Amino acid sequence: MTKIAIAGAGLAGLALAHSLREQADITVFEKARGVGGRMATRYADPWQFDHGAQFFTALTEPFQRFLAPLIESGIVMRWDARFAEFIGAEQTAHWQWDSTRPHYVGAPKMNAVAKHLAAGLDIRLATLIDSVSRNGDYWTLTDGDGESLGAFDWLVSTAPAPQSAALLPPEFAHHSAIAGAEMRACFALMLGFDGPLPFDWDAAHVGGADISWMSVNSAKPGRDTAPSLLVHSTNAWADAHIEDDHDAVQAHLLSEASRISGHDLSSAAHIAVHRWLYANLPKREGPAALIDPDTQLAACGDWCVQGRVEAALTSAIALSENLKALL
Ligand SMILES: Cc1cc2nc3c(=O)[nH]c(=O)nc-3n(C[C@H](O)[C@H](O)[C@H](O)COP(=O)(O)OP(=O)(O)OC[C@H]3O[C@@H](n4cnc5c(N)ncnc54)[C@H](O)[C@@H]3O)c2cc1C
Repeated sequence: MTKIAIAGAGLAGLALAHSLREQADITVFEKARGVGGRMATRYADPWQFDHGAQFFTALTEPFQRFLAPLIESGIVMRWDARFAEFIGAEQTAHWQWDSTRPHYVGAPKMNAVAKHLAAGLDIRLATLIDSVSRNGDYWTLTDGDGESLGAFDWLVSTAPAPQSAALLPPEFAHHSAIAGAEMRACFALMLGFDGPLPFDWDAAHVGGADISWMSVNSAKPGRDTAPSLLVHSTNAWADAHIEDDHDAVQAHLLSEASRISGHDLSSAAHIAVHRWLYANLPKREGPAALIDPDTQLAACGDWCVQGRVEAALTSAIALSENLKALL
């Protein structure tokens, strides 16, 4: 059987591994200690935060088909949030999400989707593919300690674009296409409270501020956790302050969230901040996945299409179809 190494156990890597598992011998390497990538959940008992992707929509038929069994089994739930729009501190609109344009979340946490997909796959957690070399007909992979991770017919990277560019050797025919995918940063502020939150919204889009999003994480469906608020910076603010002192970033985002929400949030019992260096990117033109049959190297992930959960699946499906034709 053809041996395929996949770098990354986010949605793209796991969906790809799932769809090829009958036709190939797949090993997924993930540098983090858990699966999910940017569909991430952080625990700080009794609080829980989806500090990466907040929700996802399903506008394409293949993604709707992929989601159907997950919705059926309760791993994905519709989030009918009370949604608000803010321009600065002024709330300019308020409505409730519903079935006309469904918004979904993993339940009881965002990374439940990845955990479900991971079952039965050969996944090596806490294992960074650090370098790659050609050995006869095979790609030999090495971890950060210089230990061999084995030899494979194919190597597929699903890491964010800059990490894929660093990982895939220069002979990969689509190197320049990866370089064209410029990913933006984002900070996530996580606030845990002892009592209920006083807002008339569960999720809010914010314009005209250094934060772009606030959501009451504990109000998402399927959660039974203490009250929690998740705040995202704008990409522009994060890009400009990416190397700033951690405490200064936290203090500024806390102050912005307090100003916009109209409540002093510094009383939170738990305050933490996370830096996403490669959070998302705008829509891109071009192929939904990159494959080079000559070198047997390939790449897929949201960054081929757009910084969205649905795009990660679209890209994985495109690569899976291309690879199946070659296996
Ligand atoms: C702050 C934030 C907010 C977002 N909000 C939304 C939203 O509301 N709605 C939406 O649809 N999308 C949102 N997104 C985007 C969404 O999370 C992504 O589009 C999607 O999760 C990408 O999946 P992926 O599998 O392509 O990549 P990832 O999830 O990034 O998976 C790639 C994996 O590769 C691993 N990796 C990298 N290098 C190596 C290596 N050398 N060896 C081994 N493993 C490696 C990484 O650790 C990671 O787990 C958001 C993202 C962020 C960060």
